[in-house]
Amino acid sequence: MNCDICGHPAITYIRYNGTHLCSEHFIRFVEKRVKKEIRRQVSLRSGDIIGVAVSGGKDSMSALYLLHSILGERRDIDIQCITVDEGIEGYRKESIGIVKRFCSDIGIKYNEISFSERFSITMDEVAPLSGGSSPCTYCGVFRRNTLNYAARKINAKYLVTGLNLDDTAQSVMMNFTRGDIERLARLGPHKKVQPGLIPRIQPLRMIPEKESLLYAITAGIPFHNGVCPYSDEALRNQFRELINELETRSPGTRHSIISSYDQMLPVLSASIEPANLKECRCGEPTLSERCKACGLIDSLNNRKRHDPE
Ligand code: SF4
Repeated sequence: MNCDICGHPAITYIRYNGTHLCSEHFIRFVEKRVKKEIRRQVSLRSGDIIGVAVSGGKDSMSALYLLHSILGERRDIDIQCITVDEGIEGYRKESIGIVKRFCSDIGIKYNEISFSERFSITMDEVAPLSGGSSPCTYCGVFRRNTLNYAARKINAKYLVTGLNLDDTAQSVMMNFTRGDIERLARLGPHKKVQPGLIPRIQPLRMIPEKESLLYAITAGIPFHNGVCPYSDEALRNQFRELINELETRSPGTRHSIISSYDQMLPVLSASIEPANLKECRCGEPTLSERCKACGLIDSLNNRKRHDPE
């Protein structure tokens, strides 16, 4: 098959809009939508700093590269990489090496922070203590805390994440079926600025996972393809399969989920009282006396005391 725009050999068929695209037009197709999202989500002034959360996977590496290519001409905007080392032997070190080299190649400042410095614990120590819960539950809470802390430390105006269309559609549906309206309203991208919380933006939120992978490969972006030994995405996988099935039957379903969510968001946000945030002992904003991360650390320490083995 040939590209519907220029007639060169196509590398992909975009089912939801019925077009065959060659590598050049596929890259332009992705970049155009990412530019649109950046314009929609971000309002920049000279001197602003943008922190990009980069794990080394295809999505966050593509997000970093795209931010750099789209905003790179603006010398007055500083884009910096933030990488979290969760302390997972045999997994994280390799991806950190890839991120560091890429940042040095494209001239982006690299910042690294570990769970070990932030919470005096690594995921390898958390995993055996996590009891019936998945280690990912701990990791997700610690990572959100750590990224917000690191973004504040570099004075970032925004924190960019690599969430793609599939991730976003899954999160919307998971929170919707759980009836967790508050969480649904806070999924982001964030419009309201809450004291101490760096607004998160998601430039890849309209880019399907497969396109993000193809973009990284076609644009020659290095990425880490390893699987975390603690990966447990049982619930998310159910939603992934369900949404993929719907997408196969009716191409465009994921876009429709996001579009419905975006239309509901102003109503949802207006129905939720603005949070009265306090400062936790770790310095992060919290609704109660302790933030979620410190609560989990306390429960892990309790478990250690009662079951030292
Ligand atoms: Fe953390 Fe789970 Fe991701 Fe591993 S799979 S890095 S434990 S959230």
